[in-house]
Amino acid sequence: MGSSTFRDDGAKALDWAASYLERVGELPVLAQVEPGEIRARLPEAPPERGEPFDAVLRDLDEVLLDGITHWQSPRFFSYFAVTASEPGILAELLIAAMNSVGIAWRASPALTELEEVTLDWVAHLLGLPRGWHGHIEDTASISTIAALAAARGAKPGHRIVVASEQAHSSVAKAARLLELELREAPVDDEFRLRPDAVDLTAVCAVVATVGTTSTTSVDPVPELAARCREAGVWLHVDAAYAGAAWICPEFAWSREGLEHADSVLVNAHKWLLVPMDCSCLWTRRPDAFRHAFSLVPDYLRTPEQREVTTLSDYGPALGRRFRALKLWAVLRCYGREGLQERIREAVRLASVFEEWVRDDSDWELSAPRPFSVVCFRLRGADAANDELVERVNRTGEIFISPTKLSGRTVLRLAVGNARTTEDDIRRAWDVLRREAAALQTA
Ligand code: PLP
Repeated sequence: MGSSTFRDDGAKALDWAASYLERVGELPVLAQVEPGEIRARLPEAPPERGEPFDAVLRDLDEVLLDGITHWQSPRFFSYFAVTASEPGILAELLIAAMNSVGIAWRASPALTELEEVTLDWVAHLLGLPRGWHGHIEDTASISTIAALAAARGAKPGHRIVVASEQAHSSVAKAARLLELELREAPVDDEFRLRPDAVDLTAVCAVVATVGTTSTTSVDPVPELAARCREAGVWLHVDAAYAGAAWICPEFAWSREGLEHADSVLVNAHKWLLVPMDCSCLWTRRPDAFRHAFSLVPDYLRTPEQREVTTLSDYGPALGRRFRALKLWAVLRCYGREGLQERIREAVRLASVFEEWVRDDSDWELSAPRPFSVVCFRLRGADAANDELVERVNRTGEIFISPTKLSGRTVLRLAVGNARTTEDDIRRAWDVLRREAAALQTA
């Protein structure tokens, strides 16, 4: 591909992206296809001869788009709603253009140094303790694997990890991979880990969650930190979603005790407008990470090695993308105020929706709402709620996901997309009530 073709195709691709973002709110949020339908539309073999890039864009529209669930839709209320902001999207293009592979400092000095600086910036914005070491992993799952590997090495012979029954499944997976045993701790009636029920015998790490996946409950980090300190146990804090809220002083309460933790992760690709993937991981104990991960092969040894940071010393992967560039672009283009605005608006919209649920006697709230996720249900049987989720999602107007709380089906409305407005929340409520009424007369 010549440079003029690249410019022409690039302009078309950017045009595609801009039009997509303009019309994404009109597309069915959840892909309305059957399993295998997209695959059946694709040729079995790749082309022998290269095709023009136009063909890729055409098939994106004609073949693939029906099979896309639109995470950028303002009415995506499932899981944790996310946003790839425009500066982040553009930065992804630049990252791919340079295609730096950060296997060592000299493999792209700016990649390493910008990652160090941006992680310090985010730590500063979120009010994390000064001087912690930060780096980027792709996902929270890998961040937790890295933290638990460091914790395991720091407490030889202790093979148990404690986390609440509401902790994300990535904790159980990390424990399994590291041949650790997960000891689940019970939660209180607000779905927070009960420190009085934690047994630290043979434990190497406790994972506390700030913003659990189902209800966004906040585990009592100060109490857990005190117990861990006494027992010499590593405290890892999973704040994948809710850590972003620490940028607003009104949510500082949920960061309490963090200064006594050993590691903390926040996914910038969840609620900080950075495109997937960018999981930020900080630690007070970088030496323990290096102990777990440092392994520099001969071909990567360099004279400057002692003076520079080698980011592969802190996690499983050797090569790394220039993810810091997209995080940096977002921080530059939004600033503290821009990010605070988005967080506050998501929380406000969730509180508006919560009030509508509270005021309608056909519905009930199922959990407290610390941030921007509302847990609620139609009063009555689980089967009706299960069916309601399917009906609502089949309309394509909104996309929500259910969870189970105390054995019962609960619906979640997760607000987090930066394009969501009060009209979108209103539409969600209208769709839910309309489909609930239709269900009752069916
Ligand atoms: N931790 C929490 C609290 C989560 O909610 C999630 C996913 O939503 C994860 C970890 C896993 O995130 P990832 O997909 O980045 O591995």
